[in-house]
Amino acid sequence: AKQSRPSGMRFYDPAVQAELEAKTELEHDLRLAIERQEFVLVYQTQVGSEGQAIGAEALIRWRHPCRGSVSPGEFIPLAEETGLIVPIGDWVLEAACQQLVVWANDESTRHLTLAVNVSAKQFQQPDFVVTVSNILSQTGAPAQRLKLELTESTVIGKVDDTIARMHQLKALGLSFAMDDFGTGYSSLQYLKRLPLDQIKIDQSFVRDLHHDPDDMAIVQTIIAMGHSLGLNVIAEGVETLAHWRYLHDHQCHAYQGYYFCKPVSASDMVRQSLVPPRM
Ligand code: C2E
Ligand code: CA
Ligand code: CA
Ligand code: CA
Repeated sequence: AKQSRPSGMRFYDPAVQAELEAKTELEHDLRLAIERQEFVLVYQTQVGSEGQAIGAEALIRWRHPCRGSVSPGEFIPLAEETGLIVPIGDWVLEAACQQLVVWANDESTRHLTLAVNVSAKQFQQPDFVVTVSNILSQTGAPAQRLKLELTESTVIGKVDDTIARMHQLKALGLSFAMDDFGTGYSSLQYLKRLPLDQIKIDQSFVRDLHHDPDDMAIVQTIIAMGHSLGLNVIAEGVETLAHWRYLHDHQCHAYQGYYFCKPVSASDMVRQSLVPPRM
């Protein structure tokens, strides 16, 4: 209510107030979500040039008892702002590594890689390398199958630190992808310096691919650059056969999107990937 506003506030806007309260409540629920085991991971297949499953990306879901399913677009930014992304991110890494162990124990799934999203704040924790190393040894997950997805926000202003840390992590056996590639502003400056294995073409360039000549040019350029720098190139947001065909014709290496599989439970993902899509 009005009288409870801090005295320093000069004006009162009910809409702003309501928004603040909603945010505080969301933050409160988010703090409890880990211990209440409300997070789950879903998996979206990544396919190779012939449409065969080569791995998956782990995507977090928050199943709140009253709110229902809260999308990461709603809570990840708040988690980043409040620092809660650090324990949440650790939980994601651990759950992903446990899944890798399950896959490693089965002939039909042991080749699958698993990509995990890592927030800038999480990556920049002083003990991040130790955390990853501990999770790998405690779970017994094969590091060679784990891929960390970074965004350009991880790198900005901290290029040398990021490079050093990436080398330490790569020494554990894992690999790196640059997520949402092309949406940042300084891509080319650091691209050749970072020890990346893969770049991921952002879905915003894929969406209108068959009728936007600018997107065609951007996508072709990213793929060509990946080839000449020796980087694997994956496209996200592949929703149609036409998207896939175009990317395939231009020598993209790997694909991810609703055309192949939506993010689903691990067992559904594996089941669906037994039936490769046809071009
Ligand atoms: P992202 O890493 O770029 O993930 C791709 C998003 O695109 C996912 O949304 C996925 O469900 C969606 N997607 C996949 N295929 C298609 C398609 O064909 N068409 C369209 N339109 N969308 C597609 P989601 O799961 O809602 O995640 C949104 C963002 O939240 C992610 O974007 C990522 O930045 C963040 N996020 C998700 N899980 C985690 C996590 O475990 N840790 C962190 N730090 N961030 C996460
Ligand atoms: Ca991602
Ligand atoms: Ca992405
Ligand atoms: Ca994206």
